[in-house]
Amino acid sequence: MDEYGVSAAELRACSLDSFADGVFGPLENTISMPWLMRLGQGKSACCYCPLCLSEGREAYFRLIWRLAFVTHCPAHGVLLQQGCPACGDPVWPASGKYMARQPGLWSDIDSCPRCRNAYSVAPATFVGNPDTVRRHLELARAASSDSTLAGGSSQAYFAGLRAICQMLVRKGNEKLAPHMPLPQPVTEAGQYIEYFPSATRAMLIEAAAWLTDDWPHRFIMTCQSARMSKGAFHGMTSKLPEWVRAVVEQNLSKANRVLSDVEISTTVEHLRQKGRKPTKQAILRELGVTVSQTLNRKQSLRRRATREECLEVLAQFMKMAATAPTVRHERNTMTRDCLIFLVSMLSGKTAKQVCTLSETEARRTIAQADWSLSDMKRLRTQIDVLCRTYENAAAEWCDSNPIDAAAPWFISRSGKPFSAHTVRSRVSKLAQNCTHPSLWNSVNAFVGALQRDHDPLS
Ligand SMILES: [Zn+2]
Ligand SMILES: [Zn+2]
Repeated sequence: MDEYGVSAAELRACSLDSFADGVFGPLENTISMPWLMRLGQGKSACCYCPLCLSEGREAYFRLIWRLAFVTHCPAHGVLLQQGCPACGDPVWPASGKYMARQPGLWSDIDSCPRCRNAYSVAPATFVGNPDTVRRHLELARAASSDSTLAGGSSQAYFAGLRAICQMLVRKGNEKLAPHMPLPQPVTEAGQYIEYFPSATRAMLIEAAAWLTDDWPHRFIMTCQSARMSKGAFHGMTSKLPEWVRAVVEQNLSKANRVLSDVEISTTVEHLRQKGRKPTKQAILRELGVTVSQTLNRKQSLRRRATREECLEVLAQFMKMAATAPTVRHERNTMTRDCLIFLVSMLSGKTAKQVCTLSETEARRTIAQADWSLSDMKRLRTQIDVLCRTYENAAAEWCDSNPIDAAAPWFISRSGKPFSAHTVRSRVSKLAQNCTHPSLWNSVNAFVGALQRDHDPLS
């Protein structure tokens, strides 16, 4: 208590320092504190509620109008005004310098020093959500350390809220807007929130507050559905409060974002519905991720084709090869691909590896298969026919005569080495018709499936 009968605490409550604990931390200056509206003759000068200014014995500017998250009057619920309603000049209640330079122009605090218009005649606009403002003001005043709050403390919360606001106004981040149920303002990119007009701030803060609700689930879901990566916060990550930084690093990092099993299976289903193959690359691209441990693990567990599925696809393949038109070598290339597929299933080698085998090696693999098994027996003669058909075709395609015994048996129509690229597409098409959808439609699901003592789960 000093000589004026005012205690330090009372005095503090009347100053911006009362928001230090709750909002911006120790008040060092009034130029660059987060959430503190800049005073001066610029655009962001003081806001006011026209109804508050016309009330009471004497007009005065409320302290909280300096806080950028206060976009509405907590008492009247109207949007705070910025600038003189008549001439548009910025409001600067402490513009003593201005007045000193122009003697005789002294004006009341609630009217424009330039045109003398009363600020209180500004329209009271009831748009936006004053509840958000009330909630934030309560938080700021309570300097809460309530752990139910995103961030744990009110100061950390406000730091995060501001970071999210700034992220929203960044160029490129407008792609978030369609994934949020709120209108988003058109803003000048790269500007600080403290410089925006109250209507813009209200929309931004509303959007950021919506994103922090049910933290971090809603934020992650929204960012992920907008294909938003860590890059959205580029250059800001070191300044982010821990509660936001951790979530951004873990969930928006393209390289190591953790995918859930549900996310993967929904994507597989989604790709199938669109008629696309759910390959690893396609899934990663669809989810905007570069690497996923979950996907790698899941893929190593993916179901291999059963013996029945193999034989079914093989039977279809052989039928197609035998009945393919002979024009444009179609029957011959189909026969070759069918044989590659067969050798791959018998040898445990991928189609591409099979293409490096010599004729002797390939034929040996076919000969050594267990053709005595009842389900294999009926295929034997058909396979002999396939081999003969391909033998003739290869002789026709090969320009060197006689064929080198060590050279790969399977060649392209132009006599060049063959990479089995057509086998993949043919098998996946066939597999789609004859196998259960739980089987990955990849030629690799069939590799080695007809090997002796093959365990389909190993
Ligand atoms: Zn008011
Ligand atoms: Zn004016």
